[in-house]
Amino acid sequence: MGGALTLPALSRAIEESTSPYQRPKLQITDIRTAEVMVHGLQTHVRIYTNQGLIGEGESTDAAVGTAALVRSFRRFLIGKDPLNVDALWERLRTAGIFAGAQGGQYITALTGVEIALWDLVGKALHLPIYQLLGGKFRDRVRMYCDSDMEDPLGAEAERKLPWIQSNGFTAMKIDIDQARDPARFDAVNWTASNGEIDRMVSWVKHTRESIPKEMDLAVDMHGRYDAPTGKRVAIAVEPYRLLWLEEPVPPEDIDAMADIRHSTKTPICCGENLYMRWGFRELLDKQAADIIMPDLQKVGGLSEGRKVANLAQTYYVPFAPHCVVSPIGTMATAHVCASIPNFLVCEWHWINHVDLWRSFVKEGEIIKEGYITVPDRPGIGVEMNEQAARRAQVPGTGWFEPSKS
Ligand code: MG
Repeated sequence: MGGALTLPALSRAIEESTSPYQRPKLQITDIRTAEVMVHGLQTHVRIYTNQGLIGEGESTDAAVGTAALVRSFRRFLIGKDPLNVDALWERLRTAGIFAGAQGGQYITALTGVEIALWDLVGKALHLPIYQLLGGKFRDRVRMYCDSDMEDPLGAEAERKLPWIQSNGFTAMKIDIDQARDPARFDAVNWTASNGEIDRMVSWVKHTRESIPKEMDLAVDMHGRYDAPTGKRVAIAVEPYRLLWLEEPVPPEDIDAMADIRHSTKTPICCGENLYMRWGFRELLDKQAADIIMPDLQKVGGLSEGRKVANLAQTYYVPFAPHCVVSPIGTMATAHVCASIPNFLVCEWHWINHVDLWRSFVKEGEIIKEGYITVPDRPGIGVEMNEQAARRAQVPGTGWFEPSKS
């Protein structure tokens, strides 16, 4: 033994770091963040432990200010056992009831932490996250390509539509809201004129006729328009058999969304700006959406996203998550998609950042022929390639700097 550890001391050390069933006894020692700007802002969260294991999570969209919020969570997390993910999540949520923990930045910050905890649990127990969520219904998760086009009639479409097909995607999305439409009469009011509605329909028609019949087409209005416009557009695009029309009106007025949904044969999709189970309960109860699309990098996390999916299943509503993050957050989302019965399709939104997408994690390209195969590696199952990721670091921000206090 060389005198380093006596046998009783060694036995005590093993006992202190594991349970009789080899369950690791972990303690959180630090939480750090890094911010990258790709499709909007993403906050990456790392949770460190006393045994060298590190969990990694990612949050987005309502991410401005979340690095400071994550720092404020340290006092609830340091010294705690990271394996009790739901309990830690509930402690942080209830701690913030008077600090905005009903949605927005607070829940987005909590989401990044929750995903890092799941990654940590998987690494500690040597299991992929889908296995921790109850196992998988499918090996492969179907992805759709958001085409991120300014003008679906122009040269950009001529370049992107063949690219989307040749990369094996079986579904895609276009945006039809347009602040600079010359047929708009008012810069503030969003009641679309006949000219605007004709332009929207022509974009849908042209795209539908430019892609194979088998490829599904989703269309996004970004919740910008008002109720009469939403209703008219939903009815006008009925001949094109869309996969869905996304947020023809903002999601806050559930009755307005329900009115549009019940007035049209076009399936209505909603939910990228709703938070936690409470955000989806009324939407589902009033049958205001045919399809829901929580964003798992802001809805509250992987466990919360799965609970929302299970709630939707009781209404026979499919789950098609919004997803605009790096391969780390996308793969975390894929684990949830594999673990629920009512998964439809998941978003991929980095078509304008393909080189960074393919180098952001050490595993390289994770989407093969339009699908992600959930890996059997522990945790999320992908590891950041720091050199590539730092190309998108937000200037003036730290990169997983140790906490000072
Ligand atoms: Mg959208």
